[in-house]
Amino acid sequence: QDEVTIITAVLDLKDKFVMEIMTPINKVFTLSSDTVLDQSNVDNIYKSGYSRIPIHLPNDPTNFVGMLLVKILISYDPEDSWKVSQFPLATLPETLPTTSSLNILNYFQQGKSHMCIVSESPGEPLGALGIVTLEDVIEELIGEEIIDE
Ligand code: ADP
Repeated sequence: QDEVTIITAVLDLKDKFVMEIMTPINKVFTLSSDTVLDQSNVDNIYKSGYSRIPIHLPNDPTNFVGMLLVKILISYDPEDSWKVSQFPLATLPETLPTTSSLNILNYFQQGKSHMCIVSESPGEPLGALGIVTLEDVIEELIGEEIIDE
């Protein structure tokens, strides 16, 4: 029974746009590239619980320049007070809202990134509508929220 449900969901992915499964931008935890990662900002990152933080330019909240992988903070001392822009940022690809969820799954499977910005004008500073991750696609497949460990 579960198998039938999952196979049906796989077939449905083709007809589902990424904008239907994304997390809307107003709910995304982001940081400006000029944020100083002092103890309080690092605590906020940990409290958010997310492993990837999209980074935008100062005063330009939908102009993303990459993402901070939270795991690189393991070896970071907040007393050093680095700015976000001093860390190596991972590439944050962009895709159109009408990209099919099956295509984005294929893209994620290539392993370059497991997060993508959904944007009306990829490559331009405006138009970010949300983010989509591998987990959003998998949730679509199994039809229920994944509870993180
Ligand atoms: P994580 O590894 O941080 O738990 P996942 O890729 O497993 O993130 O995604 C879990 C859910 O959280 C998805 O719905 C995804 O869209 C959302 N998500 C991921 N990163 C962020 C973020 N920085 N802010 C808000 N939502 C996020």
